[in-house]
Amino acid sequence: MKNTVHESLQAAVSKQIDLLWEDELAFLKKITSYRSTLGNEAALQNFMADYFQRVLGLEVDSFVPDIKSLSKHQAFSVPEWPYDGRPVVVGTALNGKVGNGKSLILQGHIDVVSAEPVASWDYPPFEGTIEGNRMYGRGVQDMKSGVAAFVFAYRAIMEAGIELDAPLTLQSVIEEECTGNGALAALEKGYTADAALIPEPFGQKVVKAQVGVIWTRITVKGVGAHTERAHQSVNAIEKSMVILNALKSYQSHVNSQPKHDDFKGHPHPLNVNIGKIHSGDWPSSVPSECVMEARVGFYPGQDPQDIKDQVKAWLLEKACEDDWLKEHPPEILFYGFHAEGVALDDTTSLFHELEKSHEAVSGKPLERTEITCTTDIRHYNLHYGIPATCYGPVGGNMHGINEWVDLDSLKEVTAVYADFILRWCGIRTGDERGHS
Ligand SMILES: [Zn+2]
Repeated sequence: MKNTVHESLQAAVSKQIDLLWEDELAFLKKITSYRSTLGNEAALQNFMADYFQRVLGLEVDSFVPDIKSLSKHQAFSVPEWPYDGRPVVVGTALNGKVGNGKSLILQGHIDVVSAEPVASWDYPPFEGTIEGNRMYGRGVQDMKSGVAAFVFAYRAIMEAGIELDAPLTLQSVIEEECTGNGALAALEKGYTADAALIPEPFGQKVVKAQVGVIWTRITVKGVGAHTERAHQSVNAIEKSMVILNALKSYQSHVNSQPKHDDFKGHPHPLNVNIGKIHSGDWPSSVPSECVMEARVGFYPGQDPQDIKDQVKAWLLEKACEDDWLKEHPPEILFYGFHAEGVALDDTTSLFHELEKSHEAVSGKPLERTEITCTTDIRHYNLHYGIPATCYGPVGGNMHGINEWVDLDSLKEVTAVYADFILRWCGIRTGDERGHS
């Protein structure tokens, strides 16, 4: 009898997802229109807080991360920017009461990386252009579509008139792309649960493991001069090539070592990316300084501080092979990501229930994936004992030109989230409502 009730409620939710589909597309287009890069998240976060409150009827807590207290946490990443006016938004569902179900956090980040070079795009990056079965735009894949999925999964449940049998919170966080301090701030503020799901877009596969990530900034000094005295000067750009090659050789070195069990099947799990390089301002001047920034990946189980020490030692050793750099060693700093890797136990009820929801909606078995980047799931698993993983839509060109999300997949993921919420949190039926 109870199963039949649940099944009919699930059918009512599926119907709502269909009815709300145009609204979901409009919502994704709307949130894509915000240029929510680092430091510019406020307008979108205010929109999210308003949407949570006005449309979803959630109790909203919008708060700025308390960096002074967060900085004591071992998972804290050192930022180089202020947090004023850049809130994390948490919405608590009022139709989820403590009952027999399990509590749940659905979380997504609304920060996006730069869309430059914008001129290379075939679509305006901040409009959310639909063409065929795709929407194009910066952040549509990573991960505004995921945010749309859980927002509309919840909205469908709410509009079907269903009460949940456990507390549910929806979170819109900042800084997943550089520190993870937004997610950490929500956890430190006391927003915990029996599990957390993050719809990062890994092609409707569930994340089994992710690497750790650190950022480094390397400053190489030269001796600037007018080019007519170039023979008496030292070109910082040319000297920085020694460091660039050292970063590449570090990458080859770590990938030649035995692989972590979860990454055995991956051809190249550890990436070192030189993401920024700045030097010089005049073709006829020898540059005095060259600053490069890189991102370094490493396996779960390794301490980010050990990796920082290792990278620094490697670069300084290679610098010594150059006469100039031996006497004038580069300055090596670390900021931003101080993110440990994580390998998950995929036999927990979180994986089992998600598997059931994915199979029920898509008719296919749920595949696992190991990702060579980081996500916010590390905080929940490593520091708060909360099982957490990622499951989100299919898309392409994340962080690149013409980023897109597959819209059929987005709709399916929305349905999977709705099904999962009902399974995990449980449904409060008529007779139970009277007892609360
Ligand atoms: Zn992401």
